[in-house]
Amino acid sequence: MRIDQGTIREILARTDIGSFIGGYVALRKRGNDLVGLCPFHGEKTPSFHVHPDRGFFKCFGCGQGGDVIKFVQLQENLTFPEAARVLARRAGIALEEEDPAAARARGEKEQIYAANEIAAAYFAAALRFGEEGEAARAYVAQRGITPATVDAFKLGYAPPVPPWDRLVRELRERGVDLALAEKAGLVKRGQSGYYDFYRARLMIPTYATTGEIVAFGGRALDDAQPKYLNTSTTPVYVKGRGLYALNVARRAAAASDSLIVVEGYLDCIALHQAGISNAVASLGTAFTPEQAAELRRYARRVFVCFDADAAGYGATVKSLDALAAAGAEAFVVRLPAGHDPDSYVREFGADAFRQRVDEAVPAVQFKLDGEIDVVRARRLSPAHAARECARLVRALAPPEEWDKWIVYAAKGLDLSVNDVRNSTFAGNLANFAPRPGAGAYATRHVAPAAAPPSIERDILAAFIDEPGLVAEYGDAIGAEAFRDARYRAIYEVMRAHAGTLATASDVYAALGDDREAVELLVLLQKTDRSSKVRFQDSAARRAHLDRVVEGLIESRLEKRKNELDRKIDQAFTTGEPVSAAERDELRHLVEQLEAKRRKRQGIR
Ligand SMILES: [Zn+2]
Repeated sequence: MRIDQGTIREILARTDIGSFIGGYVALRKRGNDLVGLCPFHGEKTPSFHVHPDRGFFKCFGCGQGGDVIKFVQLQENLTFPEAARVLARRAGIALEEEDPAAARARGEKEQIYAANEIAAAYFAAALRFGEEGEAARAYVAQRGITPATVDAFKLGYAPPVPPWDRLVRELRERGVDLALAEKAGLVKRGQSGYYDFYRARLMIPTYATTGEIVAFGGRALDDAQPKYLNTSTTPVYVKGRGLYALNVARRAAAASDSLIVVEGYLDCIALHQAGISNAVASLGTAFTPEQAAELRRYARRVFVCFDADAAGYGATVKSLDALAAAGAEAFVVRLPAGHDPDSYVREFGADAFRQRVDEAVPAVQFKLDGEIDVVRARRLSPAHAARECARLVRALAPPEEWDKWIVYAAKGLDLSVNDVRNSTFAGNLANFAPRPGAGAYATRHVAPAAAPPSIERDILAAFIDEPGLVAEYGDAIGAEAFRDARYRAIYEVMRAHAGTLATASDVYAALGDDREAVELLVLLQKTDRSSKVRFQDSAARRAHLDRVVEGLIESRLEKRKNELDRKIDQAFTTGEPVSAAERDELRHLVEQLEAKRRKRQGIR
């Protein structure tokens, strides 16, 4: 397809880049720019800028930038002419009719979109007018789906067999290459030629956010198996990547900064019909990291509403983890047993469903509730349960929320909050234990009460191995890094003599006749010490101490951030003013902490 410069200019002039990109990315106004999370690289703080006046976008994180056509190219993985065509169609700009040669040259993707469009129209007509569509019409009516919804979601019907080749004939008549239709998953090739893939099913097309049909779901009208027959991976669709109805939900999502994820097509359609237009379906149970990242691109808050059975519980937990890793705030919407979103909204109405969304529980609470049930079922002794409770909180919640969730979990287990608190080493030190991959808070080792936390042992082990490092790190690592009094006392002696410590014997000399301290250090020097960290050389020791310093800086920032948070919260309720400087400081702290977190998790 040829597109001349005049057409390009017209496309750019008629497309408001701010509102167009705003349909993909939640954008906030900042000065003359619009700012949001970059859709082209993973990030948790916005560095993606759109300049509506000048008609271009730019990401300061990954460097991607360009005009709106470039955006569509990157976003939808299209060639320049394909992207221009999408925008032209959207802006109502007629492109010159293609000659057959140009049509042949069109990309395979374009041809599959066209074949899917023809198939969808065929299915829609069969549902509306076809003689055999009666069963499907009855099914749709029985599910409470209105004609307007049928139209809006372009629902259709694949008639039953025989004959086996109705869609095949339709596609052939419309000039679709059947080999291509097979690639699109619409037909199959048998010994005596092509035949229809979908038969006797309610047909639900899935749209890309640019408006093309990329896949179909076919639902059996009766108990036929499988219940759903879906397009598998094709050149325009990767199974497990798409989200159903995102093309319609994204505007409402951008407005409310929230999305609701349900399992099935019909749940999703029922919510839209009830006016809850930020709903999408995951098309499968636990959704993938790609889907989580896609959701996060459109909204910060994601409400998961899956079936409440055992399989649904596991799927929900997995999905919550994927969302946390993608930087979304995840919540779980709970429905009464036996209900799914479709049945619930039909029986109780949209307001009742919205109420359930308002009452959705945060991801941490959802997971804690599940674990609390398990702990209860195990009938542990109170002391054991308290330890278990503390362990769970630390495994499931970010450190800054431990205290809040300890109170919650203790209540759930009828334990005293103090017992739970005292059964842990919870405190700042734990904040800088190296954490594993993004989003997950792994269970940390809880040392027995007699032994100091391994992190303190590791710091001292590094220093006794190479006492010269005390002078170097003494300022950055204060004595308050040690909660264990014996270790803190040893470290204080080391710091006092920092300038003169060259070898381990210098340290022992400095400790004089403090026998207990000497014994502790000797224990640390033994190769079989229980600490996991064994420093190979000076570089490894420095790397470890650098991590410790980073962690201490981070917990200091965290502490200051919490102070400011509290102050601003309080000001909010009492009406006291909060200075601009404090707000700036808070924003700056959040950015610094975020940067540190990303660095720690190995994310750029
Ligand atoms: Zn970027």
